[in-house]
Amino acid sequence: MDKTSSFSIQKGKPIRCKAALCRKAGEALVMEEIQVDPPQAYEVRIKIICTSLCHTDVTFWKLDSGPLARFPRILGHESVGLVESIGEHVDGFKQGDVVLPVFHPNCEECKDCKSSKSNWCARYANDSISNTRRYGMASRFKDSTGEDIHHFLFVSSFSEYTVVDIAHLVKISPDIPVQKAALLSCGVSTGVGAAWKVANVEEGSTVAVFGLGAVGLAVAEGARLRGAAKIIGVDLNPDKFELGKKFGFTDFVNPTLCGEKKVSEVIKEMTGGGVDYSFECVGLPSILSEAFISTRTGSGKTVMLGMGKHAAPISLGSFDLLSGRTICGSLFGGLKSKLDIPVLVDHYLKKELNLDSFITHELKFQEINKAFELLEEGKSLRCIIWMDK
Ligand code: NAD
Ligand code: ZN
Repeated sequence: MDKTSSFSIQKGKPIRCKAALCRKAGEALVMEEIQVDPPQAYEVRIKIICTSLCHTDVTFWKLDSGPLARFPRILGHESVGLVESIGEHVDGFKQGDVVLPVFHPNCEECKDCKSSKSNWCARYANDSISNTRRYGMASRFKDSTGEDIHHFLFVSSFSEYTVVDIAHLVKISPDIPVQKAALLSCGVSTGVGAAWKVANVEEGSTVAVFGLGAVGLAVAEGARLRGAAKIIGVDLNPDKFELGKKFGFTDFVNPTLCGEKKVSEVIKEMTGGGVDYSFECVGLPSILSEAFISTRTGSGKTVMLGMGKHAAPISLGSFDLLSGRTICGSLFGGLKSKLDIPVLVDHYLKKELNLDSFITHELKFQEINKAFELLEEGKSLRCIIWMDK
């Protein structure tokens, strides 16, 4: 990695800037002037260029109970920015670098970060409660009364400036347009990674994707690039079917038009016994069970990506499992951000990976609440929210 020891560390002063605060569950975000403290050791302060809205932001925006429901809070975790200043012991980043903050950590030093078996950083990934990675509940944000504001997923991109730990930060090539790069900081990487790294979809295989948001469409894009023969999309919203064709879907199932049959029965009929791989990209336990029994006995594999409220328990038929199917879940599509995001950027620059069709809307920062409406109404895939416009 490019060392920056010659770069003089900016001691840094607090910055005053605009942020969209979530003050109460489910209520419109409020644009406020906040203070962003300088980065501490192993942290970087970033000027966000643009951010987008992922369904996980919507889930946490609505969450009104339990230890993860915290207010006031700055949501947002899919974004791209420029390094404004760095704290002590920060190697590999310097002022002006184009960077992607990523919600899933990659410390590069723990046993699991060094192993190719998983992307579960043993040092950090089990803590989803803290505000800052190395400093517990300490926050880098204050409102105008001096009250601490909570971070979100160690990113908090709905702010003109944010502070991110280096375990959550990836330097990327400035050649990729920033709005396309932002998509790689969560949803698209999660879907493509799930197809490539978690399921390892191979040429000629059959795939079913439940939920055609950006995550589900990105699974199809990953499966298409691997040469899957049949990619079946399942969604309640028929508008997603036309869009889905751009990402390699070959067939569609609308659960409301299946009559007496279950979606899994329809998929088994379409594929002569079930798909090789299925992906749950909604976040509902009932859909996960359908996705699971849509796969072939003996070898079918199901990957769960959807994130529901309150980590609800799931129920699977024991004989469906005994008959040789496997199921697993994954955060960030099994990708190690520092290693794999630059690879995805390369695929985009070589015109292999389709990122363009994910961007359905572009908004100004002041219009951020409209992005929530569009996603909830099923009208958008990804809205790019420009901080400077
Ligand atoms: P989205 O809102 O854009 O898409 C969800 C899709 O599911 C929509 O097209 C909707 O019509 C469809 N849907 C809803 N209910 C359905 C049902 N009963 N049957 C069939 N389709 C249904 O969301 P997104 O941003 O693509 O995110 C999808 C899920 O992935 C969310 O739960 C999100 O929290 C999760 N997520 C997980 C990770 C991860 O690392 N595992 C990363 C990003 C997002
Ligand atoms: Zn996300």
